[in-house]
Amino acid sequence: MHHKTLAELATGLAAKEFSSVELTRHFLNRIRQHDGLLNSFITVCDGQALAQAAAADAARAAGKAGLLTGVPMAQKDIFCTEGVKTTCASKMLDSFISPYNAAVIERSLSAGLVMLGKTNMDEFAMGSSNETSFYGPVKNPWDTTKVPGGSSGGSAAAVAARLAPAATGTDTGGSIRQPAALCNLTGLKPTYGRVSRWGMIAFASSLDQAGPMTQTAEDAALLMNVMAGHDSRDSTCINHPVPDYTANLNDSLQGLRIGLPKQYFGEGLDAGVATVIEQAIAELKKLGATVVDIDLPTSDLAVPAYYVIAPAECSSNLSRFDGVRFGHRCDNPADLTDLYKRSRAEGFGAEVKRRIMVGTYALSAGYYDAYYVQAQKVRRLIKNDFARAFEQCDVIAGPTSPSVAFGLGEKQSDPIAMYLSDIYTIATNLAGLPGMSLPAGFEKNLPVGLQLVGNYWSEAKLLNVAHRYQQVTDWHRRMPATFE
Ligand code: GLN
Repeated sequence: MHHKTLAELATGLAAKEFSSVELTRHFLNRIRQHDGLLNSFITVCDGQALAQAAAADAARAAGKAGLLTGVPMAQKDIFCTEGVKTTCASKMLDSFISPYNAAVIERSLSAGLVMLGKTNMDEFAMGSSNETSFYGPVKNPWDTTKVPGGSSGGSAAAVAARLAPAATGTDTGGSIRQPAALCNLTGLKPTYGRVSRWGMIAFASSLDQAGPMTQTAEDAALLMNVMAGHDSRDSTCINHPVPDYTANLNDSLQGLRIGLPKQYFGEGLDAGVATVIEQAIAELKKLGATVVDIDLPTSDLAVPAYYVIAPAECSSNLSRFDGVRFGHRCDNPADLTDLYKRSRAEGFGAEVKRRIMVGTYALSAGYYDAYYVQAQKVRRLIKNDFARAFEQCDVIAGPTSPSVAFGLGEKQSDPIAMYLSDIYTIATNLAGLPGMSLPAGFEKNLPVGLQLVGNYWSEAKLLNVAHRYQQVTDWHRRMPATFE
């Protein structure tokens, strides 16, 4: 059963090949069997999952099942879940049980999706390797000495090892696409404002966006149908029509103009990864696409601008974790100042503290104009670059990550090297554009992801390109042998 996609599981449930309870049990058993090695889950919801599955089976028997009723999936531990621990992989929230469900969780549950558990991640989604988690690193199922990518590393590892057929992720600077690339999955970061952020613990509010991490583009489309839509509780969630994301998956790619930014194929890109990406683009040409060289001149400013804006927003967002209103509280505080200081010192890990310090500095009087305002101006230039590019092409293609999965511990002592692993994904978030990563081949036996970036609201187009590509390739069907 675990070799099936979401679409195939939905068909199997409808045909009564298996029940949701059987399916859910199967995945819970797989988690029990393999997650000791991978560490992809922070919380496994055995009891609740089986109750949801039983309810799904009853709904189906009563003729009230939707397409995905009874299909299990995993949720990133950044989404608030009623009655289930929500940690954001931080000691700060180690004992937090949310009194309500995030919008993404509400929508999943009302579609009848069963929640297997909450997946591991970088602490407060800050990282590219899943090594900043309070609950320990996640291992890449393709090679357990390597990182799965981050920050949605637990979701990526769980789906890659088929401990769950699909999962949610969130992407502030690449956290859906980069782990999808490193673990051989299809991951989509929607247009900013497409999916409600209500109940999704904020890292950098102007950049954060939730999306699906799946085996196929078709599955990502199915989950987008569940996740996308307006929510008045998130003031940045946009009231824009939601298409049926599965409707145009099979459209022809004849005449599709693919833009290749010269900045995404230059220095810093692993030669083996470049070859795989070139082959993937050749495959898209065979499907009828044409390529055009494009220029994104401010590309090299994306990482520096992001590492001012994201820490600035995080320093503000994380101020609520003070041991009083939210989060861990230290023992026996001497006074209020001591309580704040020690609660935060004990609750946050090193990377989170680094970001809070950088962000507080960048926002402080005297430095605000020099750093924060300057970074916002750069952000506008980046957005303008993309606007110009989309006059020449429909979709931009390139590598998702400059290299395949790196070794656990390899970049931990060098934050700048770690930050550069998002060099091709970050600009998309700064501009608010949708982007996706899809399996494109292997280099040194490790997966390589092809990134596609589209104009605002073009998710259906990205999914269409990815789906057509997946019809003529089988990279997305490969799974790590140890977990067969
Ligand atoms: N790796 C980037 C960071 O550390 C992006 C993280 C994310 O998208 N959540 O900030």
